Formats: sequence, C-alpha cells, structure tokens
Amino acid sequence: MRLQVLSSGSRGNATLVRAGETNLLVDVGLSLRELETRFEAASFEGRNVDHIALSHGHLDHARSSGALSKRTGASLHLCERLMRNRSVERAARMETLRIGSTSSLVSSRAPESGSPLELFAIKIPHDADPTVAFRLEHEGRRAVILTDMGEPVPTLGATLGNAHVLVLEFNHCADMLRSGPYPPNLKRRVAGRGGHLSNVQAAAVLEHLAGPDLHTLVLAHLSEKNNRPELALGIARETLAKLGLGHVRVLIAAQDEVTEALEV
Ligand SMILES: [Zn+2]
Ligand SMILES: [Zn+2]
Repeated sequence: MRLQVLSSGSRGNATLVRAGETNLLVDVGLSLRELETRFEAASFEGRNVDHIALSHGHLDHARSSGALSKRTGASLHLCERLMRNRSVERAARMETLRIGSTSSLVSSRAPESGSPLELFAIKIPHDADPTVAFRLEHEGRRAVILTDMGEPVPTLGATLGNAHVLVLEFNHCADMLRSGPYPPNLKRRVAGRGGHLSNVQAAAVLEHLAGPDLHTLVLAHLSEKNNRPELALGIARETLAKLGLGHVRVLIAAQDEVTEALEV
C-alpha cells in the first residue's frame, strides 16, 4: 500500500492511497482542475479512482467530492448525515460510512484481484458533526489519517494505535494563534474543542498513537498563519525521541505540493 498526500491545509486536503489495484482518495478539498495537476504530479490517472472517503463536510475536505465521483464513477463513502451536503450532490454512487465499523474496498476495474483495502472510520471532536479519522489496512500494513480534531482523545489509541504510517494534524502554535492576525471569534474556534490541534495537543495524540511499527509520521494541516514548519517538526521529533522512536521519519505535508508516495 502506498500513501501520498496531494494537498494539506485550510485551502484544501486530499490523500491518495493505492493498495494493489484499488485506488482510494481520502477527502477532495481541491477544485477538479487543481486535483488534476496533483494527480499528474503523482503520476496517477484520475479516472482510476475507485473510491472516495469523506472525513467531514467542511469545504476544504469535501469541495469536489461529488463532482469527482460523477466524473470517474467512484463510490463516495460518507456518513449518512452528509448525504445532503451540496458538495456531494452530483455523486455517481454513495455508500454509507458507518462509524466504528470497517468497509472492504475493492477495485471497480479488477474486483477479483488481490486483497481488499479495509477502511475503518472513528468519530473525532470537530465542529462539523460528524467528523471521522480513518484507519486503512491492506495485507497487514496500516496507515492512519487524522486531521481536524479539536482536542486529544486518549481512547483513540485502541483503534488507531501503532500504524506504520501516521498522517496527523499539527495545526497551530498556541502562542502564534493568540498573538496572530485572526479575529477573536476565529481564534476561539480554532483553539476550542471543535477546532484544531495545536502542536502541543498533536504531540499528546502522537503519544497515544505511536507504536513500535511506526516508521513514518506526516505532519498535516499546518496553519500558514499560525504555525511554522520548524516548530511542528521540533516538537514531533522531541516526542518521538521521548518514546524511543527517534528513528521514525518525519515529513511535512504541504498545501501546494504533493509528498512522495510513501510505502506503508
Ligand atoms: Zn480542514
Ligand atoms: Zn474541518
């Protein structure tokens, strides 16, 4: 299984997962035109998307999900409550994403080939209800994608712990947010229980989720105004070292560039 973050941040999120013949896109927060550019950078044929999974209904995650499903015929997996969201209106096919349960995804082009990609969704606190994090499993390898969470939830370790690749939100530095340019109500929202993880909160989540199998950590959804890559990197590396996981590779997912395709 290979995972590649195509875009990450408040201007749009999308992550491509290729598992055997099965291609899954987690969130489609870019315009179709921009997405096409990212697909090209990832050497991926956009029409080969089999499945789309939506973490929540905010536009930076859901924007073109219905349009991409219509264009490619991909099944759109989403929580029932999001099915009337305008972003998903044109979807070719919708499948209910059940919180706390697993969906087995196979390629629509080669349904008999290889083992399925197992998609598990779990609810996390954020001000778009419901918002979920994903665990993806294929042939014994596990990846977790967790962004847009307002506060750490210690019990997540039971289901999302010890992935091989972990994509985790490191949204803001609490001091930079406090003294930064956002209006007071937006500051309150970002820092609140329905907002986003600060670097310190993300480090606490990392402590809950990191295990001996972790080999790559991707820092995601960094705020362009309220964070600096070196701050997020610093605290992430410090936390990993404390856990005896100093060998883990740490990357930052960018807003305007695709990451390399990570072998999970
Ligand atoms: Zn977001
Ligand atoms: Zn959000």
